[in-house]
Amino acid sequence: MCSVVGIYKNQNAAKKVFYSLFAMQHRGQEAAGISSNENGKIHTIKDRGLVTEIFTEEHFNVLKGDMAIGHTRYSTAGDDSILDAQPVFAQYGLGEISIVHNGNLTNKNEVRHELIKRGAIFQTNMDTENIIHLIAKNQASTLQERIIDAVNAIEGAYSLIILSRTKMFAIRDRFGFRPLSIGKIKTGGYIIASETCAFELVGAEYIRDVNPGEMVIFENNEMKSIQLFEPTPKKCIFEYIYFARPDSDVFGKNVYETRVEMGKALAKELPIDADMVVPVPDSGVASALGYAKESGIPFELGIMRNHYVGRTFIEPTQEIRDLKVKMKLTPIKHKIAGKKLVVIDDSIVRGTTSKRIVRMLRDAGAAEVHMRIASPASIGACYYGVDTPDSEELIASRMSVEEICKYIEADSLAYLSIEGMLSSINDTKSEYCFACFDGKYPI
Ligand code: AMP
Repeated sequence: MCSVVGIYKNQNAAKKVFYSLFAMQHRGQEAAGISSNENGKIHTIKDRGLVTEIFTEEHFNVLKGDMAIGHTRYSTAGDDSILDAQPVFAQYGLGEISIVHNGNLTNKNEVRHELIKRGAIFQTNMDTENIIHLIAKNQASTLQERIIDAVNAIEGAYSLIILSRTKMFAIRDRFGFRPLSIGKIKTGGYIIASETCAFELVGAEYIRDVNPGEMVIFENNEMKSIQLFEPTPKKCIFEYIYFARPDSDVFGKNVYETRVEMGKALAKELPIDADMVVPVPDSGVASALGYAKESGIPFELGIMRNHYVGRTFIEPTQEIRDLKVKMKLTPIKHKIAGKKLVVIDDSIVRGTTSKRIVRMLRDAGAAEVHMRIASPASIGACYYGVDTPDSEELIASRMSVEEICKYIEADSLAYLSIEGMLSSINDTKSEYCFACFDGKYPI
């Protein structure tokens, strides 16, 4: 998961990176960091925690200059060491560079093995460190050539931003798995960010996305482009379903609108007689609105969310996850008592949340609880940068829909079909990756 951002040629760039990371905090809450470039000297500050917990006013006395990059990190279990926080900074043959990366390299182990054979030593588990070694060990005379060679050696999902002493590079893998958009800042310069929700806070206008397989170079106050690879788009559909913020435009479409459409499709495919449509907050809100619009059943906020608790499975152990669901969601009892409910959530992963919600709603007196999921059943792990558990832990890879329904103790359960999902985003060219739903992995 993770978010990346770069600010090119705007005063107090690091502060703007800070605000951008704050807007994209949902993409990773474990660690964050900023590198800034002050007259060719790169300074980096990174730590574990939320963006607002890490950075204080004093840090910006160090993080000066008009170019900066930043990152928020969401790791999988066990990799929460500070060493694994980004940006990754290095001094190398041509000077200094700092890199931020959102994605997951599928040939990380092979590349690392090769580099170790050639004498490289690694300090972290991150695939990003592979990239920095590939650049450092290369003999080409310009950074641009070295970066091009490096991305030719890696495979998988990467939206990268690289800061050097004088330039900034933004690169997206040929599949375009993870988003990366460019905006023009009204007060001068550019922003490159994982999500366009960052643009609002820094006063920037969306220009375009970095294309799959493209390298965009920011140099001498200008933006140049090189198409490095033939694009073979397989954009991550889960960005629409869960991951991105609803006010962002991702892959050229507004996330909120796509979720509403998925809710409408769900109501068309799987109608049910009920008194009210209740979203699981916040992930099910937009699709529940779509479901209510299409079905004519009233929309009600029957469940409240405590916003001071992070996302439910942000910590890796099952014990903490269970407790977090309880801390996070509570029913509005008098709304629910005696009512037939259609409860909408975006997805079921392990089933913890749905089971807890059904029980909570029954305890609050609901007459019937019908779960409707605004995406197809999750059956496969993601190897391209979304933190989904291994297939065995995904409840739908082990159980049929009827068995899951029984397990979560709902009156009925149904998922949106793959066709319904694709029609909601008007995907006529098969430009999306949904391997987590159909098991067909592009690499
Ligand atoms: P679970 O309780 O394991 O079934 O998780 C389901 C909940 O987690 C749903 O409410 C989703 O909104 C949310 N969710 C789905 N995918 C992810 C993910 N990759 N990371 C964090 N939360 C997720």
